[in-house]
Amino acid sequence: MTKYSGKTIFEGFANGEIRVLQEDNTEAPARKFSGVDQEFTRFLGAREKELAKLDELYAKTKASLGEDKAKLFATHKIMASDPDFEDSVKGFIAKENTAEQAVQLAAKQFAGMLSQLDDPYMKARSADVIEIGKGVVDILSGKQDNYTLTVPTILVCEDLESSTIMKFDKSLLKGLVLTKGNPTAHVSIFARSSEIPSICMASELPLDKALNGKKAILDSTKGEIILDVTAEDEAKYATLAKEHNEKKDALKAFVGKPSVTKDGVKTKVYCNIASAADTAAVLANDGEGIGVFRSEYVYLKQTNYPTEDFQFEVYKKALEAMQGKEVIIRTFDIGADKKVPYFNLPAEANPALGYRSVRICLDKPDMFKTQLRALYRASAFGKLSIMVPMITNVSEIDFCKKCMDEVKADLAAKKIPYAKDVKFGIMIEVPVAAVCADELAQHVDFFSIGTNDLTQYALACDRVNPNLTKVYDPYHKGLMRLIKMTIDAAHKYGKEVGMCGELARDPKVLPFLIALHIDEISLSAPYVLQTRKAISELDTTKINIESYIK
Ligand code: PEP
Ligand code: MG
Repeated sequence: MTKYSGKTIFEGFANGEIRVLQEDNTEAPARKFSGVDQEFTRFLGAREKELAKLDELYAKTKASLGEDKAKLFATHKIMASDPDFEDSVKGFIAKENTAEQAVQLAAKQFAGMLSQLDDPYMKARSADVIEIGKGVVDILSGKQDNYTLTVPTILVCEDLESSTIMKFDKSLLKGLVLTKGNPTAHVSIFARSSEIPSICMASELPLDKALNGKKAILDSTKGEIILDVTAEDEAKYATLAKEHNEKKDALKAFVGKPSVTKDGVKTKVYCNIASAADTAAVLANDGEGIGVFRSEYVYLKQTNYPTEDFQFEVYKKALEAMQGKEVIIRTFDIGADKKVPYFNLPAEANPALGYRSVRICLDKPDMFKTQLRALYRASAFGKLSIMVPMITNVSEIDFCKKCMDEVKADLAAKKIPYAKDVKFGIMIEVPVAAVCADELAQHVDFFSIGTNDLTQYALACDRVNPNLTKVYDPYHKGLMRLIKMTIDAAHKYGKEVGMCGELARDPKVLPFLIALHIDEISLSAPYVLQTRKAISELDTTKINIESYIK
C-alpha cells in the first residue's frame, strides 16, 4: 500500500474508487465540418443529453438538499431549451462552423449581450449561458462529465468551491481529498456538516488522471489516503471503521443530556448551518440551537438576488424545524472567498480585507433591509436572533439598528406580525472589535466570536492560503487573549457570548472556553455529542486559564 498524508477536515473512513477532478479548460478539439444537417443533429442530440443531465441534477438536489438549492438546475434547463439560443446555434452552423464551435459562439454572443444590460438579474444570466454552453460542448466532444458519480467515490482535487461539492450525489461521494485547501475554508466547513470523511493539504498525492478508477481507502481520522490497497488492508481498515462507528454510537448516551461540567458549569452546544435543510442533522445530533445560519448560502445558490418572500420561506422553515430552540441567523457575509456573480463586486487586490458583509450593507441599505424584513417576518415562527458579521465599530451597529427599526416600523404599520423579542448580536471577528468589546457590548444583546476570521486578521494570515498553515495558529496566545477579553467584556455588561468559528469544536481549547464561562459554542452537527461528552469530563476548578494566555 502507498500512503499520502494531509490534514483532517472531517474524521471517518471511506472506501471507493478515486475520481480526480481537474478543471478542463481546453478548447473543443478541432473537428471537420460535416455538413449543416449533420452538425445541427449533433447539437440537438447533445442538448438532449444535457437537458436529461440537468433533470437528474434537479431531482437529486431537490431530494437531498431541497427545492431552493435545486432551482438553479431548473433555470439552466429553461435556458438550454431557449429557441433563440437554438436559432443562434443554427445560424453559426449555417456559416460552416462545427456544432462545438457554433455552441461556443452562440453562448459567447448571448453572454456578451446579457452582460451589457443594466438589469442585474439579466447580467447575472451571462455566466449561466457560458456554463450551459460548456456542458453541451463537453458532451459533443466526449469530455468526461465531472460531476456524475456511478460508484462509491473518493474525490481528489486541488481545491473546491463550496458550491461545487453540492453537485455530487452525496450517497456516492464517500470521501474528499484536497491536495491544497485548508481546514477552515468554506468547502471544509461544508464537508464537515455533510459528514463527508475528508482531508486537505495532501500535497504529495499526485493529481494524476491515471489514478481514476483505482481503489483507495481514506482514513481521515489519521489524515491519510491509502492507494494500492490489498485485501489485507481492506480487512484492517474495515475493522478500524467499525471501531470508529462503535465509538460514535456510544456517544448516543449523551442525547437529551445537558452540556454541563462535573462542577455544574453549563454551556449551550449549538450548531452551524448553511441551509434550512441542515436543521435535520442538528436535530438528529441533539444540537441545542443554531449558533450561526450562514445566510449567504441562500444567496450563493441563486442566480439572482433572492426576493424577500423567498428568503422568508427559507428562514421560516429553519425556525419551524427547530421548534422553539434559538436560531441565530447571520445576515449575509458575501465577499472575500464567497463571491456571488450577480452582486457584481469589484475585483480586489486583497479580497479578505475588502468589500464584504456589513460593508456592502452600508452602501446598499435597501438590499440589507430586504433581508431584515424576511428575517423579522420569519421571527413570528420561532425563536430568532439576528447577528451581523464583520462589525468593527459602534457606528456600524447604529446603522444596523436604524435599518432594523425602520423595517419593524413598516411591518407594524402594515400589521405584519413579527416577534418583539428578537435579539441583535454581532460577530467578533476583527481584532479591533475584540479589543473594544467592552464598548460594543453596551450596544448589542450578544456576541459570537468568529475565530476563523479573528485568527486570520489577528495573525495577518489569509485563512485560505495553504502556504500559511504554520502561521495560521489558532492557539496563539494573542488570539486566546482576544477571546478572553471578548468573553469578559460581554459578561461585564451582562451579555451572552458564544463562539461559532471552527475553534469552538477544538478539544484543546474547550477547557479554556468553559472555564471562562462562555455561554454557547456552535459547531458542525456531527460534533455535538462528543463535545458534550468532553464538557462532562471537565472540572473548571482544575483548569488553568493563565496557561492559555501566558
Ligand atoms: C468565523 O469567521 O469564524 C465564522 C464563523 O464565519 P465564517 O467562517 O463564515 O467567515
Ligand atoms: Mg467570519
